[in-house]
Amino acid sequence: MQYYNHVTEAIGNTPLVKLNKVTEGIKGTILAKVEYFNPGNSVKDRMAIRMIEDAEKAGILKPGGTIIEGTSGNTGMGLALAAQAKGYKCIFTMPDKQSKEKMDILRAVGAEVVVTPTNVTPDDPRSYYSVARQLNQDIPNSFYPNQYDNLSNTAAHYEGTGPEIWKQTDGKVTVFAAGVGTGGTICGTGKYLKEQNPNLKVIGLDTYGSVFKKYKETGIFDENEIYSYATEGIGEDILPKNVDFDVIDQFIKVTDKDAALMARRLSKEEGLFVGWSSGSAVYGALEYARQHMTENDVMVIILPDHGTRYLGKIYNDEWMKNQGYLD
Ligand code: PMP
Repeated sequence: MQYYNHVTEAIGNTPLVKLNKVTEGIKGTILAKVEYFNPGNSVKDRMAIRMIEDAEKAGILKPGGTIIEGTSGNTGMGLALAAQAKGYKCIFTMPDKQSKEKMDILRAVGAEVVVTPTNVTPDDPRSYYSVARQLNQDIPNSFYPNQYDNLSNTAAHYEGTGPEIWKQTDGKVTVFAAGVGTGGTICGTGKYLKEQNPNLKVIGLDTYGSVFKKYKETGIFDENEIYSYATEGIGEDILPKNVDFDVIDQFIKVTDKDAALMARRLSKEEGLFVGWSSGSAVYGALEYARQHMTENDVMVIILPDHGTRYLGKIYNDEWMKNQGYLD
């Protein structure tokens, strides 16, 4: 019989799928690594289980413990699955700009969700970072993974996503592109791939309203770069420890609108019903590909999550029109 003892054992080994339509006129091969095939429907399952297992090994997380995290939803889903497998409770703090679907999904898998205001600075006591930290102090036997600064996040991709892509492309990958939130996906995967091929380029996709691109180009943390934006899961107003700027060669910013429209094209034209940040990743990566790729280049783009979480937003025509994204 072939079966997993728990669904968390099905994390990883996601497929690479060639993009055929949205890549028209582009030289080389563009492959999408479709992370919604993970059991929690996102790339974040990989690091969630790894953060828990590393904490158990280090004795930080003990039986009967409570996991507390600030999460835009996908990390929460991964943590909730791992917590079920291992018998922990979960409490998640989440900014109120996140889709209702994500909050409902987390509650459905048994987590408690605390909703916090989006438009406050990270050091404000009401921010989702601060509330998570406070709960961690108040609740005995609780563990705050802190996905931003916890290097188990990068390690999950260095040991998982990177080797998978190298093997799946027979070592032919020449460009790796991914959106940057905590930075774990791009830096763990990118570091591994660059060790195999030092000429490989790593392209980070960023949002307008985020500090990453300017910081990479100037070394300046510019608060003027920070303003609210709508894309979920990428761009930050902090510099997480998981972002290693030496691994990322270049950042490209993508607007909320361009990302939303590209996600809709991926769903309609490529059969890939993906989330908003997948639209950012493909839109930005193709901009790079148009300028730099030649026939022999192979680009791999991470598509982080599934479209169901955005049904009320980018897959809702009324919502799209109200945003001014559709005529
Ligand atoms: N897209 C989505 C939908 C996400 O939830 C995340 C995680 N924040 C990312 C992209 C970025 O991944 P990472 O945190 O590894 O940089």
